[in-house]
Amino acid sequence: MASPADHDPQPALTPLAPDATFAFACHPGVPCFTECCQQLELALSPYDVLRLKNALGLCSWEFLDRHVCVGQAAEVAFPPVYLAMRPEDGRCPFVSPKGCQVYADRPAACRLYPVGRGTVYRRGRILRRHVLVREAHCQGFATDGRRQMDLAAWCADQGLAPYERFEERTVRVLQHERLRQGWRPTEKQLDTVLTALYNLDQFRIDWRASQQSAPLPDNDEDLLAFTLQWLERVLFA
Ligand code: SF4
Ligand code: SF4
Repeated sequence: MASPADHDPQPALTPLAPDATFAFACHPGVPCFTECCQQLELALSPYDVLRLKNALGLCSWEFLDRHVCVGQAAEVAFPPVYLAMRPEDGRCPFVSPKGCQVYADRPAACRLYPVGRGTVYRRGRILRRHVLVREAHCQGFATDGRRQMDLAAWCADQGLAPYERFEERTVRVLQHERLRQGWRPTEKQLDTVLTALYNLDQFRIDWRASQQSAPLPDNDEDLLAFTLQWLERVLFA
């Protein structure tokens, strides 16, 4: 579970039940403003990448080249994809003194914070576990403007609905039952997965070049929904 808080060596994690409430506020008036936007292992979902590359006006391979590092697929079949921090100071490439420059399209982990989430897909069901993350540097639990919210209210407030819809579709591929049975992708399949999930503009080009008869959606969100269904079919059918 990655969050913007991963640079804190010992955050206090408290299990968060769906009906439990907490009070947290983050705004430019907090003394710690943007302190959390550095030294992160900030995992990006395919939908995070889609939103960010479009917000920045980049095609997907430009975004991947500039802003992404791919982790090792040591114990999982598919490698995690992370937002690359600036090498000169370890800060997020999108943070400025005025705050997040991609705020409207910030990744799901940034939206959820101070909530951390683990999502598991088992036998056709999505299971989500949540924790409340308390870190020494973060003043969000002590600042003005807080109101009590439960998890659903927090997620609604942070605009998480489309991220959750795509997460549910994504884990059907990345945590497919066949993986627990020992199935592993070949290198070629791994390339296909990374392209279909994170490099949608390249996927379009490859699809047309291979003279596939099915037309692709023009809209990126519809295309990602298509590639997720397509991957499930070509990998696991
Ligand atoms: S209150 Fe917490 S989340 Fe908000 S800027 Fe400060 S450290 Fe970051
Ligand atoms: S994307 Fe925005 S909110 Fe997230 S770490 Fe970067 S600057 Fe902070």
